[in-house]
Amino acid sequence: MELAYRQFDLALRHHWAIATDLGRGGGKSVYPVVFVELKDGQGRTGLGEASPSSQYGENHATVTEFLARVDPKRLSFDDIAGSMAYIEGLVPGRYPAKCALNIALLDGASKAAGKPLCEFLGLGSFREGAHVSSFTIGIDTPEAMALKTVEAARYPILKMKLGSPKDRENFAAVRSAAPGKWIRVDANAGWKTREEALERIEWLASDGRVEFVEQPMPPELPTADWAWLKARSPLPLIGDELYQSAADATRCAECVHGINVKLVKTGGVTRGKEALEAARALGLKTMLGCMIESSVLISAGAHLAALTDYLDLDGNVLITNDPYRGVLNLDGRMSFEGVEAQSGLRVR
Ligand SMILES: [Mg+2]
Repeated sequence: MELAYRQFDLALRHHWAIATDLGRGGGKSVYPVVFVELKDGQGRTGLGEASPSSQYGENHATVTEFLARVDPKRLSFDDIAGSMAYIEGLVPGRYPAKCALNIALLDGASKAAGKPLCEFLGLGSFREGAHVSSFTIGIDTPEAMALKTVEAARYPILKMKLGSPKDRENFAAVRSAAPGKWIRVDANAGWKTREEALERIEWLASDGRVEFVEQPMPPELPTADWAWLKARSPLPLIGDELYQSAADATRCAECVHGINVKLVKTGGVTRGKEALEAARALGLKTMLGCMIESSVLISAGAHLAALTDYLDLDGNVLITNDPYRGVLNLDGRMSFEGVEAQSGLRVR
């Protein structure tokens, strides 16, 4: 097996910021990712992507340093489990790089089997148009957030980032630009105590069209604080920063009503699938989210849609220079229709 990788700067359509950016320079306009390609002796290929987030202490260098340690001779499209055991045993963490390799291995294996990835994983065929993704509005001035909301008129569900001192102005700006539309709120751990979080959630519930609140508080707060909030919250709570992997499912069942899985957080599709299944087994709602990502990672996520209640796979519509074409976001509806690639990730 040969392993090749390259950094690529995804260009954001709009300046991007979330609550955790506010204290450190306020967001970004370019988002570097790393594309990975595997090629074996039979000419079979697999494509993957790492989208390293500074929120998790990851960047281009942490990804490429890990990839440089990998001996590609230890990887095989015919032995995903053995290949992943080798990759996961190299060093702890480094989930974005592991994610890229896992996706590339699964792309090659499912192409070799002549199946789309979702069928290769035993999840049945992709239900065209049945899965609707939200479209995310990042933190900005109220005027800019209203403008982005108007531009996003074709998307049926919005997700907006809160967790700044201007929450009320920002929410009012988005709401006035999209009366009646369902809004999902993501505070990215921006409310620091259970009392502050409850006060904000009660205010949001009075709007009547807020679907749920994602990560209201910091994940490191005691489970008892989370359980206190869960018992009182008038809106469903979704844990994102709170949910790294399947191992967190039991704690999350005490803290929140549902969880948000991201492939770069769990370390790929194999672990992402496990994380979704573990949460469902405990009665939690499941959401699949993303970072700023190209169509490679977004398509990989779409293949897990059958295991989700909510999708937030808009990373590839927030950028202007996607070098790949895969799952399409047709006014929020995910579709592979018209995509020439019929097996593997279905990405070209
Ligand atoms: Mg989130």
